[in-house]
Amino acid sequence: MGRIGIVSAMHEELRTLLAQMPDEAPVVRGGRRFWLGHLEGHEVVVVLSGIGKVAAATTATLLCAEFGVERALLTGTAGGLAPGVAVGDVVVADALLQHDMDASPLFPRHEVPLYGTDRFAADAAMSTQVERAAQTMLAGAKVHRGLVVSGDRFVASAEESAALRERLPAALAVEMEGAALAQVCHDFGVPFAVVRTISDRADAIAHVDFVRFVEEVASRYTLSIVREWLAAA
Ligand code: SAH
Repeated sequence: MGRIGIVSAMHEELRTLLAQMPDEAPVVRGGRRFWLGHLEGHEVVVVLSGIGKVAAATTATLLCAEFGVERALLTGTAGGLAPGVAVGDVVVADALLQHDMDASPLFPRHEVPLYGTDRFAADAAMSTQVERAAQTMLAGAKVHRGLVVSGDRFVASAEESAALRERLPAALAVEMEGAALAQVCHDFGVPFAVVRTISDRADAIAHVDFVRFVEEVASRYTLSIVREWLAAA
């Protein structure tokens, strides 16, 4: 099996992953450090993308074009949007959409111009493996599978998340990188999966929940899901 790119938007997650890679050696490209090493017998490249769609797109491009990854996994946190998606749950994307893409009236709202679609599908087999890994590792946590939406906004008000729910009723969660990585991986033909732990409900207390969650839970969740997935893959 070929090299796997593991992208994290948060330093906390990267730190716990790197602690498992004693043979790591960072290569700097585009202002990012790419850690080449091994995890659970797989050749991996671990990288901190930074926050937002452009940062995620740059990182994904380098992973595909420069580091030749054959698969990519994005982990991190997200705000819960759908009613049953609570803090502490896990969401595995089956597809990703940019909720802030709007070239209307030239193209339908959310459609990525000239792609003829508003969403990019995650690799089904890989996503199922990740979903299983999450279920195995986090007994008791709810694992959802469905649409994840991304945009360059930290969604932190009841009004904004209600508007997103109304406009995109299928959306389970909102974050800031997934759809960008998805589009780049689509362009390069690289299968990918996105797994997000719900850190907040994208409401007025989102920033408080987010900070607490990231510090206490997110990095442990990520590490156990990624390791379990790699061990089984
Ligand atoms: N203050 C933070 C900034 C994090 S931005 C810091 O110091 O790093 C939030 C990150 O978590 C983004 O990478 C995004 O993908 C995800 N996220 C979690 N909750 C979110 C929400 N409610 N809206 C948008 N993105 C969210």
